[in-house]
Amino acid sequence: MNFKALAIAILAAGSSTLGFAKSAESTGTVTVCLADPTLDITIDQAKMTVSAMFRKADVNVVWRHSAADCRKPGAQGIVIDLLTHAPQDAPQLAMARAFVYEGVHIQIFRNRVSHPEGGLNAPLFAHVMVHEITHILQGVARHSETGIMKATWTRDDFMRMQNKPLAFAADDIEMIHLGMLQRNADGPATSLLARNTTEPHAAETR
Ligand SMILES: [Zn+2]
Repeated sequence: MNFKALAIAILAAGSSTLGFAKSAESTGTVTVCLADPTLDITIDQAKMTVSAMFRKADVNVVWRHSAADCRKPGAQGIVIDLLTHAPQDAPQLAMARAFVYEGVHIQIFRNRVSHPEGGLNAPLFAHVMVHEITHILQGVARHSETGIMKATWTRDDFMRMQNKPLAFAADDIEMIHLGMLQRNADGPATSLLARNTTEPHAAETR
């Protein structure tokens, strides 16, 4: 039984608690497009961390190296734009933002996920990607009390993530799976040009 069938079966049974068995058969898949013209090895490191973090939530990340791959007709991927600097309309100190209700685009501000001496901070970059991808998969702008989806990471969180990835709260894993079911049911975003008419959600992680 694949994940979708499993989840539908559980929902049909009227259960409010979803059980996600750790098996390949129950894994949802999301395609993420992140262009990397610089071939920066820290980006590869961060992508591996992102994939490992989502595996803990039973989600398989398929990476593509061109935004165009996620903008093809029928595509349902998520596009990450790694911008050199935050745009002027971005909240002060925000490291990234996801266009949650548009469902496609994430902007990450490279200068704010880099070490002070320069160079991407791979663990931090990975956590910011996971946080923003999760917003899009869940389809709502909400935060949790603990873990990856906290509105604000503490100094301890920042230090901890350098050695070991933060975890998802149990509620977040359930909401990711429900959100993915909804995305699959809705089909591709109706307008990929909608980014200027949608309500951005600024990540409050710093
Ligand atoms: Zn957030």
